[in-house]
Amino acid sequence: MLRTWRAEYERLLPRVEKPARYLGNERGTVRKDPEQVAVRFALCFPEVYEIAQSHLGLQILYDVLNRRPAVVAERCYAPWVDLEALLRAHGLPLVSLESHLALRDFHVVGFSLQYELTYTNLLTMLELGGIPRRTAARGPGDPLVVAGGPAAFNPEPLAPFLDAVVLGDGEELVGEIADVVAGWDRRDRAAVLRALAALPGVYVPAFFAPRYAPDGRIAEIVPLDPERVTVRKRVLADLDAVPPPAGPIVPTLGVVHDRASVEVMRGCVKGCRFCQAGYVYRPLRERDPEQVVARTRGLMAHTGHEEVSLLSLSTGDYSGVNPVLKALMDELAPQRVAVSLPSTRVDALSPAILEEIRRVRKTGFTLAPEAGTQRLRDVIQKEYREEELLAAAALFADLGWRSLKLYFMIGLPSETAEDVLGIAELAGRVKRAARGRLEVTASVSTFSPKPHTPFQWAAELTVEETVARQQLLRRELGRRGVAFRWHDPHLSWLEGIFARGDRRLADVLETAHAGGARFDGWSDRCRIDVWQEALAAHGLEAGVYLRRRPLDEVLPWDHLDAGISKRFLQQDLARAVAGRLTPDCSIERCTYCGACDFRTVRNLDYHTAGAKGGEHRGEMVSRWAEQLVPGAPGDPLPGWETRTWRRIRTAVAERRAGRLPVAPGPGAAPPSPLPGSPAPPSAAPALAGLAPRADGPTPGVRPHAAAGRGAGRSGEGHAEEWLGAVPSSLVPDAPALPVVQRVRLRYRKVGPARFLGVREVGTALFRAVRRAGIPVAFSRGHHPMPRIAFGPALPLGFSSDDELVDLELTTRLVPATLCEHLGGELPDGLEAVAAWEVARAEPSIERMIAAFRYQIDLSGLEVPPVPAALAAALAAFHAAERWPVRRTNRNGERELDARRAVPVLELLGPLALAVEVAVEPEGTLKPGALLGPLLGLDGDTLALLRVHKVSTRFREPAATVAAVAS
Ligand code: SF4
Repeated sequence: MLRTWRAEYERLLPRVEKPARYLGNERGTVRKDPEQVAVRFALCFPEVYEIAQSHLGLQILYDVLNRRPAVVAERCYAPWVDLEALLRAHGLPLVSLESHLALRDFHVVGFSLQYELTYTNLLTMLELGGIPRRTAARGPGDPLVVAGGPAAFNPEPLAPFLDAVVLGDGEELVGEIADVVAGWDRRDRAAVLRALAALPGVYVPAFFAPRYAPDGRIAEIVPLDPERVTVRKRVLADLDAVPPPAGPIVPTLGVVHDRASVEVMRGCVKGCRFCQAGYVYRPLRERDPEQVVARTRGLMAHTGHEEVSLLSLSTGDYSGVNPVLKALMDELAPQRVAVSLPSTRVDALSPAILEEIRRVRKTGFTLAPEAGTQRLRDVIQKEYREEELLAAAALFADLGWRSLKLYFMIGLPSETAEDVLGIAELAGRVKRAARGRLEVTASVSTFSPKPHTPFQWAAELTVEETVARQQLLRRELGRRGVAFRWHDPHLSWLEGIFARGDRRLADVLETAHAGGARFDGWSDRCRIDVWQEALAAHGLEAGVYLRRRPLDEVLPWDHLDAGISKRFLQQDLARAVAGRLTPDCSIERCTYCGACDFRTVRNLDYHTAGAKGGEHRGEMVSRWAEQLVPGAPGDPLPGWETRTWRRIRTAVAERRAGRLPVAPGPGAAPPSPLPGSPAPPSAAPALAGLAPRADGPTPGVRPHAAAGRGAGRSGEGHAEEWLGAVPSSLVPDAPALPVVQRVRLRYRKVGPARFLGVREVGTALFRAVRRAGIPVAFSRGHHPMPRIAFGPALPLGFSSDDELVDLELTTRLVPATLCEHLGGELPDGLEAVAAWEVARAEPSIERMIAAFRYQIDLSGLEVPPVPAALAAALAAFHAAERWPVRRTNRNGERELDARRAVPVLELLGPLALAVEVAVEPEGTLKPGALLGPLLGLDGDTLALLRVHKVSTRFREPAATVAAVAS
């Protein structure tokens, strides 16, 4: 019999900072009876809810698994430190959000590994979930612990904790894992691991054993099963084979990416040499543009989000970007839904799109030049020219932007003093190009070399080297009037250790975790002293992991095949050394990286035939790709056409006219390596070509170090091009329709919803209104807002039968239908009760309220008051002429007379009270502020009071135009 811990959690939630993180009552949540399925799958993300729930990959797997009748997938995210402390203090387990089942009660516990600095949270989750940390300690009844995600391409620091690792795309594999687990007898753990290892794309760390040389390097990674000496990643050949989730979870708590998302393509072949995602998720696979539009339409109807994001590593390069954007904006703009391209390039934006971006709600623009000099941009494969960047800055200023953020990295391979200074100089030129109209900020992070990239052999800066560069930049940027933001060098140091770490770091992780390491990616929480001590305790030095690696050294991930051949990476490194670019195989020709098998796995796009000239590509000619959207008169480009797309279209036209060589047709043999590709660099000296230029080094700046930011910057969009990460919500103008009716809605806030704050209720209600198609009006102006006005905020943790909100509508409706429409759209615990029309001239809800009536249940307190003492306290209150209560709010401390402010205080039962609190100009007393001193309850105890608002008393009868509707 499975046990749910919901009631125990409900008692803890009043004591934590954001209880909504742990409710699991969002719209889209799947509920199945966990007792009635063959496989229970926990999808875990080792970060706090706001980050975890933003991750699209987990939503996809949630959808794929829950479509299977015999499987239930539930979510579990890292508890924030306040809840962790409470769980430990009360001996309670970490549970799933949906059923509140302990993690140990699942058959599979799967972690998404997006960032190395979440690893200690994974240990916390295993420990609190009641699962032995090490695989060797797990028995037949324990769950299988599985991990996937970009960081799983080197899972070695976590190897002793993971039963299996998914390499690559998980959509097909999770189902296959569920099938294996469904057939598992729950006794022979080794047998199920063997069955998992037989699935293409699954790595079982226990089946490999590293052997270390006396100097501490890896001498060999020994495959214990001679049949499997390497594990190749899994590729979902066709994204359209797995439709995006049609009914994803719609969070009520504000999350980092609070919008609907549709993945338009996966993989990126631009080849930025620092970008792990760009290599491990090859080849390029696009979704059918028609599917994107249709799915987005359905998604918006389901979620009611105000914004949809077209996700990929470089959305500006998506074949269908022009017509898809045009189609979506034509359809969604009247509904005030914005479309965003979180990761794109400015040369992939057209004048028409830029015009729309100008109306964006956000005030800043972000570009990613990455390096300060052209030489270094050639090394890292950034194609843009400085003139384009300066022209873009001037254009943004012309279009009305006032601030511009520039992303750079320090510590890139072959970096010299000139390159570091080049950052300040380039930022200064950008500022000058905008003629003082832009506030320019340079945001500088430290490069961290990542496995499976051409820079995987490079060194990372030490903390001291990073600090020296940061000091130089602070001075030089300051002199040019450019603001400076920097990444905490200690976090980069830690990220670098684990990104290219080996199994010996598992001991370090455990020791640091025991020493209190948690949420290490949060600079205010990361405790570097704990990590330094943990490394020392196990006789390891950070330098072992951050150093430059010889090209012939065995790397901890060498037995894991991410689809990119080591030979290609070495060739690409040699091209970097020579400052040569590698052609983009989606436009030029194959460079033979190894990702495609040219049968099922290959670049799959929707460009017009011949656009990319490759015999191995999909040749998926689409009417979308041929479609040109007419622009406004005088536009230099045809409306929505981007410069990238125009380049492709022109190239195709020229090929067709015979001016350019035509690519071989379908069925031709796989391409041979690039003519003139350099031979792989020899093992010694490693990175010999990455020498400093003749310029002397700046004091404190190492001339040829390598390091940097890899996949960890923001979770998504690491492969953005030089003008990446454009915060481009496209919000076309739509006329503000006049208000014709004001409707007041009464709703209940009960059950889990009592832990939703004012903002969360507002978001949930607005999205429900959108989904229900209720014609709510918007304010005028640059940032139109829905005309919805709530009554006074209910304190967090209170439930209520009588909450009120006014909605102004642009089309008249019968008020009763409002409740019907909203009925199925609100999250658990919010219930529309009644609706009626009120005169538009009537004062706001807040101004009309005279008092609130509450019922208070004291029986749930850990030590409830003795009934006789309770009665005596009430008697004393009633006998007093004045009852001063101190009340603190953001305006300071004030004194209220509770005898006047609390007209009703009476017993409803031995441990139940009725309280009426008057709403007064000087403020409204919270019941706890009276009951605390009256009954001698401290703040912690007061948080456990069950307070329920029964009704609201108005100053005068509310002027209603129509009768209450239900
Ligand atoms: S194998 Fe060729 S076509 Fe495929 S991703 Fe690699 S370079 Fe591009």
